[in-house]
Amino acid sequence: METTLIILKPDCLKKGVAGKVLDRFETAGLAVVGCKMAELSSEKLREHYAHLAEKPFYPEIEQFMRSRPVIIMALRGEGAVAKVRDLIGPTDYRKAAKGTVRGDFATSIMENIVHASDSVENAAAELKRFFNPGEVFAL
Ligand code: ADP
Repeated sequence: METTLIILKPDCLKKGVAGKVLDRFETAGLAVVGCKMAELSSEKLREHYAHLAEKPFYPEIEQFMRSRPVIIMALRGEGAVAKVRDLIGPTDYRKAAKGTVRGDFATSIMENIVHASDSVENAAAELKRFFNPGEVFAL
């Protein structure tokens, strides 16, 4: 059993496809074990996207991620980290197959609907970053 972190990004909520995206994860056997809506601070985003902080497009990512509140979820299931990454498809929506979340709903590399942890180690760090103790449940 693994727990992974996803963020339904501002474009997901603007397009009104949060339910459709969540349906894919639930249909794949993943359970919601944590959920909150939040406005992400610049500080939190700088930490979360530290690997991109030096990129010329970083300010745009921050602006986009702060453009409206997001939904942050913890999802649990067998092999949850890899399973969710497979379901969302690659970062670049043009390379994402139809049937993946990004292949079906994303409209740019930046506006790609959903974040998901890319390794078990990063999932642990990201769950700690976005959830306080007691906010992820042992269902
Ligand atoms: P992923 O979200 O698939 O783990 P990264 O960690 O590389 O991918 O990038 C984080 C986010 O930054 C992406 O999901 C996307 O929103 C944005 N991003 C990444 N690369 C670019 C780019 N070349 N141009 C604009 N935005 C980008």
